[in-house]
Order: sequence, then C-alpha cells, then structure tokens
Amino acid sequence: MQYTVKDFFLEFKTPFAIAHGTRTGTDIVLLTITHDGISATGEASLPPYLPETKESVRRFIDDFFQVHTNLSEDIPSSINTLHSFAAGHTAAKACMEIAFWNWHAAKAKMPLWKLLGLNNQPLPDCTYTLGMGSEEEIPSKISDSREFKILKVKLGSGDMEYDKQMISTIRKYTGKPICVDANQGWTQKEDALNMISWLSERNVKLIEQPLPKSAVADQKWLFERSPLPLFADESVQGPEDVDNISKMFHGINIKLMKCGGISKALEMIKLVRKLKLQVMIGSMSETGCAIMAAAQLSSLADLVDLDGPMLTKNNPFDVVKYVEGKVMLKD
Ligand code: MG
Repeated sequence: MQYTVKDFFLEFKTPFAIAHGTRTGTDIVLLTITHDGISATGEASLPPYLPETKESVRRFIDDFFQVHTNLSEDIPSSINTLHSFAAGHTAAKACMEIAFWNWHAAKAKMPLWKLLGLNNQPLPDCTYTLGMGSEEEIPSKISDSREFKILKVKLGSGDMEYDKQMISTIRKYTGKPICVDANQGWTQKEDALNMISWLSERNVKLIEQPLPKSAVADQKWLFERSPLPLFADESVQGPEDVDNISKMFHGINIKLMKCGGISKALEMIKLVRKLKLQVMIGSMSETGCAIMAAAQLSSLADLVDLDGPMLTKNNPFDVVKYVEGKVMLKD
C-alpha cells in the first residue's frame, strides 16, 4: 500500500463570522491511499479553535502507517486498529476512516451507503448557513439559499439586540424555517431563555449550542424550560459523551471530525436513537470529500448540515449535488 498526504487551504466565498471570530478559510489535510490498483481519498478539516493541526494530522498518519504498513481487507479490524492506535486525534482518524471506507466501496464497486448497509432515501433536508455579517449582505445570501428549505443562522454574537436584528432582517426577505446556532455565545441562562422564546415566535425550529459547554447546570435549567428543541454541538464529541447530555438536549449534531469518523458516527447515532433524541449530521468547513462521506449517513438523520461546498470557492472535489435542498446520494 502507498499513501500521500497533501495540505490544502479551503477558502470561504465570503469571510465567515461566527462567535469564535472571523476567518477566510480552513486548513485541510488530504490523504490518498493506493492499494491493489485502487486509490481513495480521505480528509481532515482543521478549524483553528480545535487542537489538531496539519502537522499533528500528518504525524498521526505517518506514525500509523509506520506500524501498520498494509491496508487490512477486514474492515472492522482495520477500524479497530485505527481507533486503538492513540487517544484523541479525531480529525486524523476521520480522515483515515474516510479513505479506508472509500477504498472498500470502490473495491466493492458500490456506493458507500450501500456498503454500510444503509439507504439513499428518505433524505432529510440540508440546512443552508448564513454566517454573522452585515445586514447589507443578507439579501444576496438569501438569494443564494433559494434551493434550500431550511436556513441555519449563526447567532451568539454576545449582543442580543444584534442577534434579534439579524433575524428581523432575514424575516423581511424570507419566512423559511430557521435553525439557530449560537455556538456557545449566550452566557446568561435567563437571556438565552428570553431569546429562545422570542425566536420561537419567528418560525425558528431549533437552537444549537445556546450556552458554553462548561455551563452544565445552566444547560439543564434551560432544557427544562425551552420552548424549542436544543441541540448539542460543542457539548458532545464522541460516543462517550452521549449519555451525559440526554437530560440537557433534545438532539445532537454529529460530525465526523469531532467523533473520529464514520464508524464512530454510526455508534453515536445508535446511542442517540436509544435515548429517543434527534440526530443532525453536521460538518466543519469541508471539501466535497468529507461532506460526501458524512452524507452517506443521511438516511439515519432528521436533518443534515452539509452545505460546505455552497460556501467555499476552491472545493477540489465536485461531487456534492444538491437537489431541492437535499444532498443527493446516487445509486
Ligand atoms: Mg454548531
């Protein structure tokens, strides 16, 4: 088996503002493995607020392949080997899993969702993300989103009046349902509750990560009172976190880069469903490679947030097709 690792900088169409700050793009690492005449690619997306870097991903991949020099054709055993190799490194592991799974799907000559024993329907709606920005940008962003049935609006600026103003401005142009992602940006539980009540009267469907992940008691307080479903993002990383948040959230945003890849996401979905919570499949800013990997799990989700390719300008993989606001999965 041979492999190559390449750095890539995925650029946003418009610099993207969220509660953590403004950015022009995201560091990506692309891994291509070649074995038995078949090549397959995987991706790690590395937003700056997370601990992994291009260097740490590269090192993880090199270290792994130094010990495990050949690709095992036994999928469960290669996935097990990967996850027991070292703790953490979830984006690096997701990258390697994506490459493994893509390789096995290519080898089996079938789409990955089929190899995983899943379906390509029914497909949930995909959200279209509107980052924080100036009010003047809103009409053109809304016009770009016209194919999508649900919007995702990034709030949590720290200024509740600005947050309300954003929603009021959006509502001048569209009445479409909105998911709000506060990215931990609301710090007082009472303010968050007031805000959620206000949003519930404006066709907002759910609130993602309203409070800082460390505010566990406040999150429980909010959960008991919120008129809208609350989804965990930063509060949950992998399968080990799911149980802890069942009395704090109504649903979970599962991302390959957070949990460590497709096998871990499947494990999480099983746990989340057992607790009768809702499932969103989300993403970091990712190229078509990681977006399509996550999309393979779509039939298990209530909603997907996989609009990355709509928001970036140099996505090297033209593989994601949106039809009527859904990510298509070919047979
Ligand atoms: Mg989020």
